[in-house]
Amino acid sequence: MVLVESRLAVIPDFPTPGILFRDLTPVFADGPAFHALAEAITEPFAGRFEHLGGVEARGFLLAGAASVLCGAGVLPVRKAGKLPRAVLSEEYALEYGTAALEVHEGELPPGSRVLIVDDVLATGGTVGAAARLVERAGWVVAGISVAIELEGLGGREALDRASGGAYEVRSLLQY
Ligand code: 5GP
Repeated sequence: MVLVESRLAVIPDFPTPGILFRDLTPVFADGPAFHALAEAITEPFAGRFEHLGGVEARGFLLAGAASVLCGAGVLPVRKAGKLPRAVLSEEYALEYGTAALEVHEGELPPGSRVLIVDDVLATGGTVGAAARLVERAGWVVAGISVAIELEGLGGREALDRASGGAYEVRSLLQY
């Protein structure tokens, strides 16, 4: 993670004043750093999932790269209005604003174990909505794995409350 952390950029006041934004794009741009991140993001859950639920958009990059390394399929968890077939939809509050996430109904076989992957855990709203979608669709949340956890924003605690402690949450870097 030293290589990954050395490539991280930190941008004050983006996208709104007062937000300290952790930018992973320099990690994605560095082949060895991205490879190390894609390996590490699934490692704690090895053997416990068949699919990676990648949250649009940076979670797509992580899930796509990790899927090639570990052999899992990818479930795209998309922003509202992008998927062409019947969807399940979940609204959530962001650190800034609100949004909804969607998955195709019946995309995976019933009982599929899905590891949810995203770049950043802040308040937990985003991955929490992804987890609710997985459960409503009849699949199983194998865990939640993020590159960066912003500890002051209470995401882990919110996910614990929402799931009764059922979700295993892992992060590679904490701030
Ligand atoms: P949450 O829903 O946990 O409050 O926020 C996490 C979501 O917002 C993630 O999908 C993530 O992409 C985005 N996000 C929030 N804060 C940051 C940040 O500092 N850096 C990046 N890259 N994304 C962030």
